[in-house]
Amino acid sequence: PFDVLVVGGGPAGASAAVYAARKGIRTGVVAERFGGQIMDTLAIENFISVKHTEGPKLAASLEEHVKQYNVDIMSSQSAKGLEKKGFVEVELENGAVLKSKTVILSTGARWRNVGVPGEAEFKNKGVAYCPHCDGPLFEGKDVAVIGGGNSGIEAAIDLAGIVKHVTVLEFASELKADSVLQERLYSLPNVKVIKNAQTKEITGTDKVNGITYVDRETGEEHHIELQGVFVQIGLVPNTDWLGDSVERTKMGEIVVDKHGATSMPGVYAAGDCTDSAYKQIIISMGSGATAALGAFDYLVRN
Ligand code: FAD
Repeated sequence: PFDVLVVGGGPAGASAAVYAARKGIRTGVVAERFGGQIMDTLAIENFISVKHTEGPKLAASLEEHVKQYNVDIMSSQSAKGLEKKGFVEVELENGAVLKSKTVILSTGARWRNVGVPGEAEFKNKGVAYCPHCDGPLFEGKDVAVIGGGNSGIEAAIDLAGIVKHVTVLEFASELKADSVLQERLYSLPNVKVIKNAQTKEITGTDKVNGITYVDRETGEEHHIELQGVFVQIGLVPNTDWLGDSVERTKMGEIVVDKHGATSMPGVYAAGDCTDSAYKQIIISMGSGATAALGAFDYLVRN
């Protein structure tokens, strides 16, 4: 059996693996796709001490760093079940069962897509999901935010301070965000809210040049010229496979304490799959380190 088995090979999992391996204990990483979300990221400018990098380049450095240690990396493998039977057992899609004294869950999350023409085509070419990451790329430009929930309205307020103008497109007849956020939004001069708006297409040539939506009340189609679209309709944690094995929030996020411990003894979690307040690379890496040190502490005590 492993001492520490990390499930997920994104920034959180890589950080956990390095911290565990440096304790000289038997460490494994099982991951569908090593690198995780950063494999889909172009510019990264908020990974402190690195002024600019690109996702795949950072992913390659993560893998290189993990491989400096004696870590058993099992790529292209999906976990489908977690159970405690003496050891913690992780069952894989291919039927294999991996046993470990401790497990660190770091299966990340994915942004919910709107699924309209142009979204996939212009990803990283005007279509963005993270205002903290990509907001500054749209300085002085016109953008839209799709989604009027808390994350959408927070994004719109944040972006309004950077870009020229923000249009919020909400599908329903009312914004769902907290009223304090709505008040703040409506106090800003360079924001327009359009309700009952069903996004139909994100248009562009080599990059985004506009968005088309249908007014759900009148059925009329409208086109807005702009340079950026932020999709803010939810971040979904990759935790369905856990069922009731560990406690999760109603959003599906794994509940962790300040040591990264979950409700199952010996099982820790880190990164975007947890109920951490913010989801960023540097935050995931920090929580990966916390979970590994938490797991090591558990091994020492048990
Ligand atoms: P993830 O990166 O999601 O990694 C999850 C890992 O788990 C992957 O290896 C995946 O294959 C694996 N996995 C999932 N399910 C299973 C399973 N059942 N079995 C086995 N393995 C599984 N953050 C920033 O700080 N700066 C940025 O500029 C930035 N830009 C972004 C741009 C885009 C387009 C996106 C999508 C995100 C961006 N982020 C950015 C957010 C950042 O990428 C995430 O916060 C970070 O990757 C989270 O790391 P993680 O390790 O928790 O999860």
